Amino acid sequence: MVDLGAQYRKIKNDIDESIQSVIDSCAFINGPEVKNFQAELEEYLNVKNVIPCGNGTDALQIALMALDLKPGDEVITADFTFAATVEVIHLLGLKSVLVDVDYDTFLIDPDQIRKAITPKTKAIIPVHLFGQCANMDEIMKIANEHNLFVVEDTAQAIGADYKGNKAGTIGHIGATSFFPSKNLGCYGDGGALFTNDDALAHRLRGIVNHGMYKRYYHDEIGVNSRLDSIQAAILRVKLPHLNEYSSARRKAAEYYNQAFAGISELKIPGMAADSNHVFHQYTLRVTNGKRNELKGFLESKGIPAMIYYPVPLRKQKAYDTGGYHDEDFPNTNKLIDEVLSLPMHTELDDEQLEFITSSVKEFFN
Ligand SMILES: *Cc1c(COP(=O)(O)O)cnc(C)c1O
Repeated sequence: MVDLGAQYRKIKNDIDESIQSVIDSCAFINGPEVKNFQAELEEYLNVKNVIPCGNGTDALQIALMALDLKPGDEVITADFTFAATVEVIHLLGLKSVLVDVDYDTFLIDPDQIRKAITPKTKAIIPVHLFGQCANMDEIMKIANEHNLFVVEDTAQAIGADYKGNKAGTIGHIGATSFFPSKNLGCYGDGGALFTNDDALAHRLRGIVNHGMYKRYYHDEIGVNSRLDSIQAAILRVKLPHLNEYSSARRKAAEYYNQAFAGISELKIPGMAADSNHVFHQYTLRVTNGKRNELKGFLESKGIPAMIYYPVPLRKQKAYDTGGYHDEDFPNTNKLIDEVLSLPMHTELDDEQLEFITSSVKEFFN
C-alpha cells in the first residue's frame, strides 16, 4: 500500500546525517531538533502553536484532557473512522455519540451532527478522513451556536487546505499523527497538537509533560507524551518535501480517476467542497457487490488492496452501547460493504499505475 523504502532512498543522505547528528549530540529528549521542528511546522501550517507529542492517539486524548470535560459529557464524531478517535473519548469516561458520514466524501455529515446535539454535548471531533477536510464552515457554525469545542482529527490530512487554512488549524485544537505511513510520517511513532489559542497551548504543553507547569510542581494529572529528537530530526528533513509529496499523491489519484471513469460498477472518491485532497487513501466504492472478489483478484496479481474500514465503530465490541439504530446510518452501512483502498503513496510510477488500473479493468471485463 505504501513504499517507504523508495521514498527514503531519495532523501537518504539528509536523513542519515540528521539522525547521526542527534546521536552525536546525545540530546535525545526534548532536544533542539524538537524545538526546531515545532517552529518549522508552525510556519508551514501558519498556526501560532504546535505541541509535539508521542503519537496521534495521544494527541487526541491530550486535546480532550485540555477541555475540562466531565464524565458523561458527550463528544460527537463519525461512525466511519479509525478507532483511535473514539477510544480516547471512552478512556476519559466521556460518551461518544457516533453519526453517519456522507456517502461520496466519507466525511462526517454536519446535518447529522446537528441532530445528535443534546444538553450534554461538549465537543465535536470531525475526522478529515482519507485526506480531505470535513465541512469546517458548517461545523464551526454549529459549534458556535451551541458553545462546543472542535477538535480536528487531521491524522490523515496534514497539508490539506480548507479555504486557505491548513487542516487542523480551524477548530480549537488539531491533532495529527506522524505514524510512518501517514502523509508526513516519521520512522517510528510521533504526533502533534495545533492551536491558535495561547491559553489552550499552555494547557496542552503542561498536560503532555506530567501536568507540570513549573518544574516538579504538578498542577493536574497529565501524561508523558513526547516526540523523540530522532523522529523530529527525520520530520525536519521530510517537512520541506510535504507539498511535493501531496502533489505526487494527487497525480496518482488523477491517474486512477481517469482510468476508472468508464467503469459503471465503480465510484471514484467524491471531492469535498472547499477542501483540496492530499489522498492519504485512494478509496473506491464497488457497487455491484463484488468488492471482496475484486480485492482477492488484485491480491492474486500481487496488488495489495485494503478495506478501510470493515466495521462501523458503533458495532465494535468495545464501543457498542446498543443505543443506535441501523436506519440512522444508511451511508456507513453501505460503505463498509463497498470500500476498497488501492495502493497510494509518493513513489507510484506510471508503470505501476498502469498495471494496477489495467488489472482492475480486467476484473470488470
Ligand atoms: C492514524 C490515525 C490516528 C492515530 O494515530 P497514531 O499515531 O497511530 O496513534 C488517529 N486518527 C486517525 C483518523 C488516524 O488515521
